[in-house]
Amino acid sequence: MKVVTTIKELQTILGEYRSEGKTIGLVPTMGALHAGHASLVERSVRENDVTVVSIFLNPTQFNDKTDLEKYPRTLEADCELLTQVGATIAFAPSVSEVYPEPDTRQFSYPPTDSVMEGAFRPGHFNGVCQVVSKLFSYVNADRAYFGEKDFQQIAVIRRMVADLGFGVEIVPCPVIREESGLARSSRNTLLSEDERKLAANIYRIMKKSLDLYPAHSVAVVHDYVVREINEIEGLEVKYYSIVDGETLADVTSWDDAPHIVGCITVYCGAAPIRLIDHIKYKG
Ligand code: AMP
Repeated sequence: MKVVTTIKELQTILGEYRSEGKTIGLVPTMGALHAGHASLVERSVRENDVTVVSIFLNPTQFNDKTDLEKYPRTLEADCELLTQVGATIAFAPSVSEVYPEPDTRQFSYPPTDSVMEGAFRPGHFNGVCQVVSKLFSYVNADRAYFGEKDFQQIAVIRRMVADLGFGVEIVPCPVIREESGLARSSRNTLLSEDERKLAANIYRIMKKSLDLYPAHSVAVVHDYVVREINEIEGLEVKYYSIVDGETLADVTSWDDAPHIVGCITVYCGAAPIRLIDHIKYKG
């Protein structure tokens, strides 16, 4: 696997692959890679001749600077993992390479980017669109792989791709979980052993709420999840939104949309660490 840090070198190598008629898959990441990322890369390796994995801790999507500072950085281990799973190129640029000038572009795709994480982390999805649009331009990939772990992110990126006419196919990939059910996340390394156990309750309770669907109303299911999680000391629900799986608009009835998903953010432990997850009720 080749590690590349400049856009110029990346494009020179990709130009050669393109001229040989090879297909290109892109997996954007912020590093601190784990089995969740690996599943995206493995899929891209299966479906494309060439797989580019970007490793870039994008400052513009962090509205909370402490969150950015705390974020784990493990480039060497990341490259080892990527070699093992068969990536072709790791693209790990500096901040000044990606942002030679401050990015002043504003993206707005409501309600996908204005609800949930969009409401609680102002500017977050604008930063995501800034960096992902740049990566799409650099790589000109046939397919780009995103984890459903960040369910809302996929909905926002789909809107951006439609808006800007990128020719890339967005491939959503299922959440990879620890044995306990906890969604794998780079942030999990910031949790103590006890906090990890606590955090496993999030998905356990969301899964239990499936038993209430569809006999009970959306409001009852919502309140059940919030109450059960908040009853556990060390966990605090920031929001639980039951939404249309495409537009992410709130639903009030199970008949409101063909796909209905519950999206949650929970604060876990003393620090606290923000954890997100989701569950599909319908479709
Ligand atoms: P990140 O490095 O957190 O920006 O994640 C890079 C990509 O990996 C995103 O598309 C995430 O949704 C995806 N990802 C992260 N964790 C998981 C997981 N547990 N299962 C599936 N995909 C994941």
